[in-house]
Amino acid sequence: MSVLEEPIKKVLVLKNYVAGEWIESKGEFHDIVNPATDKVIAKVPFSTREEVDEAAQVASKAYPEWRRTTPLSRVRCLFRLKELLEDNFEEISRIQTVEHGKTIDESRGETRRGIENVEVATGIPSMMMGYNLEDIASGIDEYLIRQPLGVFSCVAPFNFPFMIPLWFAPYAVATGNCIIIKPSSRCPITQSKVVELVDEAGFPPGVWNVVHGSGSMISSALIEHPDIKGVTFVGSTPVAKQLYRECGEAGKRVIAQGGAKNFMLVMPDANLEKTIPALMTTFFGNAGQRCLAGENAVVVGKDDAFYRKFKEAFLTAASRIKVGYGLDESVQMGPLQSKKAKERVLGFIEKGIQEGARIILDGRKVNITGDYPETSFLAATVFENVAPSATIAREEIFGPVANIMRARNLDEAIGMIHANPYGNEASIFTSSGRSAREFQYKVECGNIGINVGIAAPMAFFPFSGMKDSFFGILHGQGKEAIRFFTESKVVVQRWW
Ligand code: NAD
Repeated sequence: MSVLEEPIKKVLVLKNYVAGEWIESKGEFHDIVNPATDKVIAKVPFSTREEVDEAAQVASKAYPEWRRTTPLSRVRCLFRLKELLEDNFEEISRIQTVEHGKTIDESRGETRRGIENVEVATGIPSMMMGYNLEDIASGIDEYLIRQPLGVFSCVAPFNFPFMIPLWFAPYAVATGNCIIIKPSSRCPITQSKVVELVDEAGFPPGVWNVVHGSGSMISSALIEHPDIKGVTFVGSTPVAKQLYRECGEAGKRVIAQGGAKNFMLVMPDANLEKTIPALMTTFFGNAGQRCLAGENAVVVGKDDAFYRKFKEAFLTAASRIKVGYGLDESVQMGPLQSKKAKERVLGFIEKGIQEGARIILDGRKVNITGDYPETSFLAATVFENVAPSATIAREEIFGPVANIMRARNLDEAIGMIHANPYGNEASIFTSSGRSAREFQYKVECGNIGINVGIAAPMAFFPFSGMKDSFFGILHGQGKEAIRFFTESKVVVQRWW
């Protein structure tokens, strides 16, 4: 099958989008490299503190009028944005592939999930309604209204450059707030394309802004500025914890979603024919760079024959995954997002071997479809004999590496999940309703899969998380996002 046309023809120099204007940053510029071809495709600025402060002021000035704009008029902008996103669906998807490395089908899936959030947020005129009760006392009525707060910032990770900012931004603006998005400095191009469409959709200047940058300075600026009322963050746990603390001290609202280490339990009564393909996507989709990716496969029970059968089927399927450029539609796994990301995963593989796990599929010997440099490519890698205390069993690898482990029974397997500090996702593969019920009842994870490996919530459900995977109370997406982006006010009224 042929390789699709690349969406970027010459090196892009990214600009900030503030107050409806494209502004060249005075900060340093850094190269963005297509991880499959190793070619520079864009330059991203690391904006200065003054530029962030300027964006906060601009958004703050735009807020009073946007807040007074009727909910129906606000969502008309979102309806237009949705149409523009559909019209540009393929280009947006291809941009994700060239800046991130994921396959075009994975990018198309991400684009669809992001757009669904825009669709859900168009329901604000009814979803933002409060409630009332008359005659709470003689001649007195009481009602609750929801009001926007002002300006929010959104700090995004590299692994879903389109979808994750859309877990928040559509709800923020639909409820009458303004937003400043800081895309990941590793994958910033997709949000630059989105904001071109935001511009075309007719949002008033200052309502939806994008400021590029990296690291602690920009995020601190996005927290500390007095005009910023709250922050959404998705990324690694140490940064999530730090931002959660800083927002607490500054008295700001925060959603801080962190990292993960997800366990996939395979019960002896699982339907292996269906389980194995599901696990391939779970462990190796997005080259394992997903907060919902499986990292530990735990085969439950003492049946050695079942264990061997599972292992053979898993290895056979994993070794057949076709690795190459994500724009080649026949490819099933793209490169890691960067050379650095690959080196990090290689470090875990080395550590796994040193600590005594047995490597039974070695992805370091990668057979790439097409003529591409090996720089960021890694094939599916599988370990067995992994002790629960091993580094590769405990820490988030964020790459195409699977650990096959064993537990004597369901309780022991759940104990392994609970011994881990993360609580993002866990799945069980079983044909027993009883085991499934016990699993979903007991497991302390925000997202649970039953015969589903990637239990990604739809846009009308919250994207949850527990323990070290989530810091905050309310979550992104759907009704909870609406609560996060609004303040409830209670009015008691006496009729004279
Ligand atoms: P990261 O923490 O390195 O970066 C995330 C964002 O924070 C980026 O925009 C980055 O520029 C900024 N940042 C980096 N260091 C900072 C600092 N010291 N202070 C303030 N901001 C800083 O994360 P990443 O590598 O981009 O993303 C991968 C991680 O995100 C993984 O751990 C993955 O599990 C997690 N993730 C979690 C979810 C979820 O829903 N829980 C979803 C997607 C990804």
